[in-house]
Amino acid sequence: MVTGLRRSLPAGSSTVCSSCPGCGLDLELRLHADSKVAPSAVWDSSARATFANAFPLPAGPLEQGGSCSGFSSGLEFDGDAAGSCSACYAAGLEGYSPGFRDMARANLEAVRHVLDCGGARALGLVFADMLEHVGSWWARVGLEGPVSFRWQSDGDILNAAHARAIVSAHRIARGRGLDLVGWVYTRTLGAARILATGERHGLRSIVSVDRVNVERAAAVAGRYRLPIAVLGRDSLEVDSLEARAHQIAGPGRIPAARLCPAAGGRWSHDDYGPAHIVAPSRRRADLERGAVAIGACHACRLCVDSSARLSVGFVHHGGSRVTVRPVSIGARS
Ligand code: SF4
Ligand SMILES: [Zn+2]
Repeated sequence: MVTGLRRSLPAGSSTVCSSCPGCGLDLELRLHADSKVAPSAVWDSSARATFANAFPLPAGPLEQGGSCSGFSSGLEFDGDAAGSCSACYAAGLEGYSPGFRDMARANLEAVRHVLDCGGARALGLVFADMLEHVGSWWARVGLEGPVSFRWQSDGDILNAAHARAIVSAHRIARGRGLDLVGWVYTRTLGAARILATGERHGLRSIVSVDRVNVERAAAVAGRYRLPIAVLGRDSLEVDSLEARAHQIAGPGRIPAARLCPAAGGRWSHDDYGPAHIVAPSRRRADLERGAVAIGACHACRLCVDSSARLSVGFVHHGGSRVTVRPVSIGARS
């Protein structure tokens, strides 16, 4: 039986209060209630998360106020040629939800402040506070099992110091007794070596591969034996990119991929309801409008648990059949 399911987000649970270890400044980080990754959701007019366990930063290139240092520069707004960045689900979300966009921007401001003030060590302490905050709400609402946390539900890893801070936060939070698993997809290839060291602290790092970066990304994933997230326009492209990635990395260096059930896989076509939620029984057929549910990732766990030893394929990454234009990515005041 799944416990702790709620019909609404507990007041205050998505705001993390911390302070900058460098200068003492009070900080607020805002968590993202994302129905696909949440342990608790409800399906009423749409699927809504009722627990916040994800951390967003703005999408887009660094020089335009985003956090994606692995952005497909030079090709970014050229429709089909641009790879997954042109169809970024999270950038689309920022485009139609100013509240979400502002939240991601405020988080980036806080992250940059702490990095400037105290470096990776300071940011690791702030992130550890965030993980403990999530853990305390997890217990408070009666959820069971390890706390799951999705890093970068929007945006990406800024630089090596940011990656070090994430690994360090996992080490600190688990050292304080938090039963935690976290996961992150990244195109920031320069951070892969550091992120790979997080595995022993419950962090699963997955290298994003698409037609723009497949050569470099597969080489890096293979070097650090990381799983990949293959982003394709259809399952044929996912298959061919995966095959290319194995060829580049060498035999046995990258785990084999399975299609995400919620993004092009079996739950996307079964007509039981929104693909990104599942009934508490973990059966799609038991989904009921008006009833509580759990996020797809919480049921599937392919990306969440390192014991799965699999890579993942996403078809129509983010469902964005519409190209994201500078109005939603990059055009920042
Ligand atoms: S494969 Fe599973 S865990 Fe990964 S994103 Fe899809 S639903 Fe979530
Ligand atoms: Zn400071």
